[in-house]
Amino acid sequence: MNPQSDRKMTMKRILIVSGTHGNEINPVWAVEQFGKIHNYIDNDIEFKYTIGNPLACEKGLRYIDQDLNRSFDLNKNSNFGNYETKRANFLVNQFGDNGNYPCNIAIDLHTTTANMGTSIVMYGRRSKDFCLAALLQNKFGLPIYLHENDMQQTGFLVEAWPCGLVIEIGPVAQNFYDPMIIKRFLIILSSLRAEIRNLEKNITKLPEKLTVYLHKGSIDYPREKNGNIKGLIHPERINRDWQTIKRGDPLFLDINGKTISYEGEEKISPVFIGEASYKEKNIAMSLAKKEIIFSTIEWIEDFFVT
Ligand SMILES: [Zn+2]
Repeated sequence: MNPQSDRKMTMKRILIVSGTHGNEINPVWAVEQFGKIHNYIDNDIEFKYTIGNPLACEKGLRYIDQDLNRSFDLNKNSNFGNYETKRANFLVNQFGDNGNYPCNIAIDLHTTTANMGTSIVMYGRRSKDFCLAALLQNKFGLPIYLHENDMQQTGFLVEAWPCGLVIEIGPVAQNFYDPMIIKRFLIILSSLRAEIRNLEKNITKLPEKLTVYLHKGSIDYPREKNGNIKGLIHPERINRDWQTIKRGDPLFLDINGKTISYEGEEKISPVFIGEASYKEKNIAMSLAKKEIIFSTIEWIEDFFVT
């Protein structure tokens, strides 16, 4: 990337969301700490803060009625009376692009019980998201998990904003404070303003290409006919998120000691391995395929101009 000159960006209001899942408490702490200092407008960037799901946070639960981070298909929502549907509507009315306090970027902070390290999750292939994800991958070397075309999982929070990413950090148990996890959130949040400014001023360039892990689907635990789990994640697979596997590599070990192996043809990287909150979604792990995406000047133009 070698843009010719400085560019002038439109005012950016960045909404930082924590507590979208009420049992992920480290982001809430990190944002409270961050917000005490970063509460001013500088370089045409202002941060706004909100707790995604305050009632679930109070109770230490992932959600009250349904997963808030699957509730932003606002036109498709039929459960109008439930807490998360109302909350999703409220957040968009308050902080959406046309809301009372309009924000054009949303950063949604999550933790996982899986051994994912720090990663970026993006939904679909929007130019603005690519621009921001490229900046962060360039700065911190973070893996990018690109989620798209999964009809079983839709209505993610950041999709309701013109630009938005999830920062996902693990492993950490639900409702457990880990100061090292909090520190990692603070490092990323603290770099956002400067990174965007440096790109605007051509001090930073986007990398030529991005490495992304493209979501290909999810697989469930082996189960009995009555739904009970009858096999666990294989000892050779547990905690090895992002590691590429091939046909024949072990996935599960059943209660009789029999190994269940990966039978797919293409090499693939399991992620969210054993994530505690995904058992109810019948997900033991998700599978992602490594892909290289070349940066384009449109990512930057789209990010700054509109
Ligand atoms: Zn979460």
